Amino acid sequence: MNICMIGTGYVGLVTGACLADFGMNVVCVDKDEAKIAALQSGRLPIYEPGLEQLVAKNERAGRLRFTTDLREGIQSSLAIFIAVGTPPKADGSPDLTFVRQVAEAIAEHRNGYKVVITKSTVPTGTGKMIEEILAKKNGGHPFSVVSNPEFLREGSAIADFLRPDRIVIGASDPRAIEVMKEIYSPLYLIETPFVITDVASAELIKYASNGFLAVKISFINEIARLCEKMGADAHDVARGMGLDRRIGPRFLQPGPGFGGSCFPKDTAAAADLARQHGDVFEIIEATIRANARTKSRMIERIAQAAGPLRGKTAAVLGLSFKPETDDIRESPAIAVIRDLLAAGAAVRACDPAAVDNARAVLPDVTFAKGPYDCATGADFLVLATEWNEFRALNLQELGRRLKSKTMVDLRNVYDPREMRATGWNYTGVGRG
Ligand code: NAD
Repeated sequence: MNICMIGTGYVGLVTGACLADFGMNVVCVDKDEAKIAALQSGRLPIYEPGLEQLVAKNERAGRLRFTTDLREGIQSSLAIFIAVGTPPKADGSPDLTFVRQVAEAIAEHRNGYKVVITKSTVPTGTGKMIEEILAKKNGGHPFSVVSNPEFLREGSAIADFLRPDRIVIGASDPRAIEVMKEIYSPLYLIETPFVITDVASAELIKYASNGFLAVKISFINEIARLCEKMGADAHDVARGMGLDRRIGPRFLQPGPGFGGSCFPKDTAAAADLARQHGDVFEIIEATIRANARTKSRMIERIAQAAGPLRGKTAAVLGLSFKPETDDIRESPAIAVIRDLLAAGAAVRACDPAAVDNARAVLPDVTFAKGPYDCATGADFLVLATEWNEFRALNLQELGRRLKSKTMVDLRNVYDPREMRATGWNYTGVGRG
């Protein structure tokens, strides 16, 4: 089957490469000429483990190609995925400009039956909007609109796509459902559960899922806050909670608050969606407030550990919003660095993949080659993103390089007892 993937970002590129690996002929389209030029010359515009090899393999096999020619992509394909960004507007509602532009282009260029599939995270009602745009123009050509939200996580995107917990398909047209089943047939064969529902429900499943996960993260962060006041250990509390199978252990790690391109945006969008329908999504509103409070209290933890920050130098390990990605959108590490700079500290930072992206938004930060270079001459250290290479640091060497053995570990990578026993002034999150 010929597939067109519109939007070649974290989701579109991974989805396009994986569908090509399923045996589909995929053309990935993007309006960003530099991105397409890079892909055409074999360079990846993003860092995602395993993606370079997967793209190269499928390009070599002739099943994956890249273009800026939207018309050609649309006309040569039966199934058209929309995987463009849906960034938040100032009021929290998602900006659907790119989705609308793509729908207009599909309406204009379509040359036969097309299945138009939204992979982008969009509010309930977007499928209907796309249908209206398609119905207005070029009415002679039939079409079906499908919602197929994506649940992959950056950093493990390929594995998540190839072994998902479920595939959600929102559609009313049996012909479109058959096309979707064919696209995902390798997952059908490995007995991946398929949730086949209407478009509006599928759209809401994505917000409901991300909203719920954000609540879980904020819940443990609120517990961590209480633990600090009460001298309790949030890790032990989380373990005691997580072993209850009704709760489960995942997403119960205390930390600096959720970030990234999805949770902040999707919680804001879910709250906005409720408001648009004359309601209040109380738990999500509280979660957004709790997360803002968690993020801003990290600088207080740092100041408690390091003393007055003005004139000091912080070594910050990690810039991306999570390990194994170069994505810094809404990264808690970036927020902490901004707070450090605002408090009058100088910042040296390092990250295995995100330095280029961070350099563009943090002109006043010095970037170091690695953790030891970063720590050299700094007054204290902040571990902001739990990359594997920061999990097994040579602490003696690190301590020698710092002016004082002070570490604020926003990801609770190290054991407080062991650290204190070896002379570190160590602060974690929610750890007594
Ligand atoms: P991204 O910003 O990395 O990529 C979006 C791409 O769309 C960009 O390359 C941009 O140039 C392109 N684009 C925008 N308008 C276009 C147009 N008119 N024609 C062609 N290309 C166009 O975004 P992303 O992180 O891949 O997210 C895409 C969508 O998927 C969002 O709605 C997001 O919420 C959702 N999502 C993201 C993740 C994730 O982990 N990043 C996971 C699940 C769902």
